Amino acid sequence: MATNIEDTAIPTRNALFSWKIICFKVEDELFSVPRNGFTAASEVFSDMFLLPSNDSPDGLDEDHPITLEGYKKDEFAALLKIMYPMPGTYKIHGDTLSLDLTKTEWIGALKLSTIWNMSKIRKYAIAKLDTLQLAPIEKVQLAREHRVGKWLREGVTALTQGDPTQIEDLEVLGWKTAALLYFIYIHLAKPQPQSSGRFTMASIKCGRCGSSSSLIPGQVTCSGCHKDISPESVLWSPNVSSTPGTQYDVYLHTVRCPEYPTCNSQPFSSTSFRCSQCGRHHYTYNNSGHARVIAHPGTDLMDKYFGQEIGEYEASDV
Ligand SMILES: [Zn+2]
Ligand SMILES: [Zn+2]
Repeated sequence: MATNIEDTAIPTRNALFSWKIICFKVEDELFSVPRNGFTAASEVFSDMFLLPSNDSPDGLDEDHPITLEGYKKDEFAALLKIMYPMPGTYKIHGDTLSLDLTKTEWIGALKLSTIWNMSKIRKYAIAKLDTLQLAPIEKVQLAREHRVGKWLREGVTALTQGDPTQIEDLEVLGWKTAALLYFIYIHLAKPQPQSSGRFTMASIKCGRCGSSSSLIPGQVTCSGCHKDISPESVLWSPNVSSTPGTQYDVYLHTVRCPEYPTCNSQPFSSTSFRCSQCGRHHYTYNNSGHARVIAHPGTDLMDKYFGQEIGEYEASDV
């Protein structure tokens, strides 16, 4: 009699669909899910599961769940919907399959994916929340709760430009943040010289030879208001406008003090600066002072007060 080979051979496990179940308890609810999802998505959990557990039945069944203390069951369920999409948690519209989470659920998933180092899910939740058009104040709040540098930058930009935000509305961000936002707003709203160019003193280079060294080394004292001007000080050349970060040419005699328009002085007095590369003299009182500068971005106050925080969040996200 012929033997059917399928009856006698030892079956192999399918590489994708062969699940060990892991049980969690969050608040008063039990969750049973495939363990491999957690080991694949999170270093935190893969490390936890690698711990020697011969004498511990933790997570193996509903009588011995791993208790996740201090977490919310709704947030955990939201995360599981992304980790284990299945009929009932996704929707099919025509040829697209999409997860159907509420904003609150995306925020919950963002929170847990951040805590448990699930970077792909975190990025996905941020992208999904981006499509929901978060209000600027909410962006700043969520940015700080979940360390999203991009949202802090966008929120601060929106709150310091355009229509003013009521100071009472800013209170939820804490008084220090509210005061900083208001300060930047007032500064930006102040009438600025129209069509003027701004650039740091260090960015002033020889306009003849393309030298990469600064034409004006060290510190100078303004010839008008006598305030110190450092290489980082932002100078003006009124009536020149340019896109931040781009190069353009100015004559030194048109340059104005950082205090412009309060101080309307050409800050260098009557002198000349010699290019260390081509040796040409650039005079500060006639058209021979041909210099090249890099237009300064207008976001210096945001960088000053929020740049470090934004940088920390962005650095932890790479
Ligand atoms: Zn001055
Ligand atoms: Zn030169």
